[in-house]
Amino acid sequence: MSINFDAGIKNTGDTSRLKKAFERAERGEALTIAFLGGSITQGSLASEPSLCYAARVFAWWEKTFPKAKLTFINAGIGATDSQFGCARAAEDVLAYKPDVISVEYAVNDMSTLHYMETYEGVVRKLLSAENEPAVYTFYNVCYDNGSSAELMHSKIARHYNIPAFSMQSTIYPLLLSGEVENRDITPDDLHPNDKGHEMVASVITYGLEKIKESGLKDPDEKSGKLPAPLTANAYEDSVRYRNKNADIVSCEGWSADETPQPHITDIFRNGWTAAEKGAKIAFKVSGTCIGVQYRRTIQLPAPVAVARVDGEVKAVLDANFDETWGDKLCLDTLLDHGEGGEHIVEIELTETHPEDKLPFYLVSVIASGNPEPLFLKPAFAHTIWGGTRLRDEYGYDEQGDDIGECWGISAHPNGEGVVKSGAFAGERLSTLWNTHPELFGFLSDKCKAAESASKGNEGECGSAYYDRFPLLTKIIDAKADLSIQVHPDDEYAKEHENGSFGKTECWYVLDCPEDGTLVVGHNAGDKSDLEDMIRGGRWKDFIREVPVRKGDFIQIDPGTVHAIKGGIMLLETQQNSDVTYRVYDYDRLQNGKPRQLHIEQSIDVITVPAKPASDSVKSFADTPVNTVTEMYSCRYYTVSKVSVDGELSFENKAPFLNVSVLEGEGELNGYAVRKGDHLILPAGFAKVSLTGKMEVITSTVPSNR
Ligand code: ZN
Repeated sequence: MSINFDAGIKNTGDTSRLKKAFERAERGEALTIAFLGGSITQGSLASEPSLCYAARVFAWWEKTFPKAKLTFINAGIGATDSQFGCARAAEDVLAYKPDVISVEYAVNDMSTLHYMETYEGVVRKLLSAENEPAVYTFYNVCYDNGSSAELMHSKIARHYNIPAFSMQSTIYPLLLSGEVENRDITPDDLHPNDKGHEMVASVITYGLEKIKESGLKDPDEKSGKLPAPLTANAYEDSVRYRNKNADIVSCEGWSADETPQPHITDIFRNGWTAAEKGAKIAFKVSGTCIGVQYRRTIQLPAPVAVARVDGEVKAVLDANFDETWGDKLCLDTLLDHGEGGEHIVEIELTETHPEDKLPFYLVSVIASGNPEPLFLKPAFAHTIWGGTRLRDEYGYDEQGDDIGECWGISAHPNGEGVVKSGAFAGERLSTLWNTHPELFGFLSDKCKAAESASKGNEGECGSAYYDRFPLLTKIIDAKADLSIQVHPDDEYAKEHENGSFGKTECWYVLDCPEDGTLVVGHNAGDKSDLEDMIRGGRWKDFIREVPVRKGDFIQIDPGTVHAIKGGIMLLETQQNSDVTYRVYDYDRLQNGKPRQLHIEQSIDVITVPAKPASDSVKSFADTPVNTVTEMYSCRYYTVSKVSVDGELSFENKAPFLNVSVLEGEGELNGYAVRKGDHLILPAGFAKVSLTGKMEVITSTVPSNR
């Protein structure tokens, strides 16, 4: 019998963390070596615990690093998958601050996209632990047919560059060739016996040995940041609710089991039991994915329950387990990428029998997929026409008396927002766009490329993909008049402005003097008229001013001559672009010089004749309260006004939703918000709940997904 060990190394990956652990072990430091997985990891069908693969791999560490002070953590739990792994990784593994973690779920998970996502969740969770543990994986195999989740899992292992070892490529071929008989190494074609465990351990230790031998040179400096997830990654933040931490909204006929849990494999602990038909317990949880764990027992008959989410039956939980090998911790999915936000999960016993041996055991409810709002720290522009109202009235901590613009939601290099709090605190918006496309509904160009590649058909993806964060939201304080200007469209900007976006923008008037006006459009009848007026400086003839009031909305298409007049404050929603052609600047001087004009480009791009003014200005001053009112929608953005007085909840299907609070204060899904706050609700933020007294403007982009 000869195992082809080299064939078992499926991925060497980034071994820097493992090499650091080897170096520390060599120096005689203390290290904790943990093993996370299912029954094989737990040691099932090894004749004694010291003969299971995990103990044998640990023995390799002891033998290889005799000076090191090593601690062994076996976190294997039989018949459990990586979905449960996500929910228990913190408590069962990371709580011990392990230095090295082996993770294995290839015969517990199936080879499906669902398990690719849950496996990614657990791998990310382990890798992102604060002490930066070395993580490696391996794939067990079903010895009767060679099946496993290796295909799905290996995509994740390669993506995160973690070392991976395969039993399908090492042990299984020996069964195929007849060199080894199934029953020599496994009684049930799933769990190895002592001999099988020894072989599994040998494949892993060979791989570790190889990595160790490849030299303990300085690992490449890595940023430590994880790449963007391959899947929707809704399981990484799984929270497991047991009687210690659950939010129970009602309970009839269930009692909490508070007997202590001495060991992680004592799995029927800290839950709830019930034995009477009609017993009901309801929990409040939040997330897009919900699961329930309960005991299936071989002591028949046993009770049956149903699980409801928001009143709808999602699963029948049958505690009868027609097997001999023991009681099983069952995890049923109740919601998989459903609506986000809060849900009521109710478990009701629907069938009991007088001769039931055991009560129904409800072990836990698990919820995940809770996106956080991204609160942004704005950037500011100081301008000759700016003032102090952004500081005085909106509370921004910005010095100077020439603050013209607050770039509240911006990924533009000329003034970029940075996330203030939460998991992404300190990240620039442009970085998040590139590294976490899932936050923005996978609208980045990279996702388009990935989608095209998987479909094998370029161009089928529609148009709603962007090479950068597509929108920019500003509050503008015009103490004095802004220059008369015009913006190009995408086509012109791409050709003449280094591939920039064009600029379509719109304004919502926040404040305005009694007789306030804006410049929108011009009075030239045709192109030669236009040239005459501009080149001849006939500004009085050229400029068209329109009266405006607080609460007006004005759409400014590219090619529209426009200017904000002194005394006006407004919220501008625009394409992520900073290309402006100045037509006329009232002959003002900045630092003793006139600002640059762009006469030729302006004449190129100005639309002649202009749209009638009445088509551009629309009042939204008196929109109904506790309603979302769409003000404008085009191929670049949809902009809405939300007035809250009391309570308002609305469904959100946007790939991401920009939110600017312009008046008042209150709460958004429990987060305090006030005038001047700018935030982005990421993808999956399915239900928006606002309370308080506020005026809010939202914007998003159209999505074809
Ligand atoms: Zn403009």
